Amino acid sequence: MPDIHLYNTLTRKTELFKPLVAKKVGMYHCGPTVYDFAHIGNLRTAIFNDLVRRLFEYNDYIVTQVMNITDVDDKTIRASREAGTTLESFTQKFEEKYLADISALNILTPHLLPRATESIEAMIEMIATLLKKGVAYKGADGVYMSISKVKDYGALAGLQNISKEMTLSHNHADEYDKENAQDFALWKFKTEADGAVSWKTPFGEGRPGWHIECSAMAKSALGETIDIHTGGSDLIFPHHTNEIAQSESANEKPFAKFWLHAGFVMIGNSKMSKSLGNFVTLREIEAKNISPLSFRYLTLTSHYQSLLNFTWESLAGADTARQKLSTFFLSLPSGGKINSDYQTRFLALINDNLDMPKAIALVWELVKDEKVSPEDKRATLSDFDRVLGLDLSTETELIVPEAVSKLVADREMARISKDFARADTLRAQIKAQGYDVKDTANGPEVISHSK
Ligand code: AMP
Ligand code: ZN
Repeated sequence: MPDIHLYNTLTRKTELFKPLVAKKVGMYHCGPTVYDFAHIGNLRTAIFNDLVRRLFEYNDYIVTQVMNITDVDDKTIRASREAGTTLESFTQKFEEKYLADISALNILTPHLLPRATESIEAMIEMIATLLKKGVAYKGADGVYMSISKVKDYGALAGLQNISKEMTLSHNHADEYDKENAQDFALWKFKTEADGAVSWKTPFGEGRPGWHIECSAMAKSALGETIDIHTGGSDLIFPHHTNEIAQSESANEKPFAKFWLHAGFVMIGNSKMSKSLGNFVTLREIEAKNISPLSFRYLTLTSHYQSLLNFTWESLAGADTARQKLSTFFLSLPSGGKINSDYQTRFLALINDNLDMPKAIALVWELVKDEKVSPEDKRATLSDFDRVLGLDLSTETELIVPEAVSKLVADREMARISKDFARADTLRAQIKAQGYDVKDTANGPEVISHSK
C-alpha cells in the first residue's frame, strides 16, 4: 500500500500513517450539535472528514467512519425548551437538516451515526469506571473528572502546565462545586432547567457532560484505541483534551493514534460561529443559485489546516471554476483509460497530508494537457473525482428564478420584433442577475453567466 502522511496534532508532526489493523482504518468525527442549522464553518469540517475517508478508500483501505450526533447538551436542552417542544422532536428536525446539507455537498454518509441520547448506557459505564478508579468524584451538582489525577493532561493542546485562568475561561458553570477549578463535569445532576431530560444512574439522576459523550460513543463504535479522531481546531481544547483524559483513564490504553484538525472558516477577521452571529448557511448559498458543490470546490482550494477566509467573491470564483470543469468533463467522450502518470502524481499529492490545492492545480494541468486524449482525460478526471467528490458526471440543473424567466421571455419578444436595443438592455438585466441567454434553434436557452 502506498504511504500516507498526515499531520498529527498530538505529536505536532507530519507522520507516516500505520493502521492498527492492516488495510483497515477506523475514524471518529465529532459531529454536529443539532440545535440549529449548520453553518459553512461546520460544513468545511464535514467536507474535510469526507476527504479523509475518500483518501483512505482511494488507497484501498476498508474504512469504518463514525460521526456522532450531539442531541443532548446545554444548548439543545435550552433551545428545545425555548421552542416549546421535546428534545427529541427538536433535535430530530436539525439532524435531518444537517444530513440534507451533507448530502448536498456530496459527503458520503458515515457508516455509523450514533446519537448521544441512544448511547447513555455506555456513558454511565465509563463514568462508573472513572469513579471506581478514583479519577472522578461526586460533587454537589454532578460527577467531575479530577484532572490533577490524569497523567499528561493537556498534552494534545500543548498545555501540560495548564493555567487556572486558561481553564476557567472555558468552564462557565458552578466552579464552587468542584474540588479544583480545572475539573470538568462528566455527569450533571438533574435541575429544573433540564425539564424531562434526565436518566437515572447509581451515581445520581441527570444527564451527560458533552465530553463523555464522544469518549463513550467512540469506544462503542470502534473500540478502546482508534486510528483517527478528527474535528475542527476549536475542539483541541478543552473537548479533545478531555476526551483523551476520560478514555485513557478509563481504558488504560492510548485513545486515538492520529488527531486531525481542520482550520476555521473565517469571516472578516473572526471565526465563523453561531454565538457571534456572523455565519452563512448552505441555504443562503443556494438562495443565490450557487450549487453547494461550488462551496465544496472552494474548500478544496485551500489546505484543510489553513484558515479559510470566506467571501462571496471567492465563492463566485469557485462557482465559475467548478462549472467550467464540470462542463468540460461532460463534453469529453467516454471509453478512455486512466492516465497513469497523472494518477501517480495525484496520489502523491493527496497522500501528502491531503494537499488538495495542489491536486486541484493538477486537475487544471490535465484539462489543458494536449498530449492526453479527451477520452483518457475523462477517465482520469472521473478517477480523481472519487476523492474530490465534485460529482463531475452529474449535470447540475440550473435553477432559474421566475423574474429571470420573465426577462428572457421579454427579450425574446423584443428580438422577434427586431427591437435589438431593448433586447440588449434586457440581456444586460439578465446578466446582472447571474444568468445569460444563448439563442438556439429551439429558442432561448438560459445558462449561468459564469459559464
Ligand atoms: P458544533 O455543531 O458546534 O458542535 O460543531 C461541529 C463541528 O464544526 C466541530 O468539529 C467544530 O470544530 C466545527 N466548527 C465549528 N465552527 C467552525 C468554523 N468556523 N470553521 C470550521 N469548523 C468549525
Ligand atoms: Zn466530540
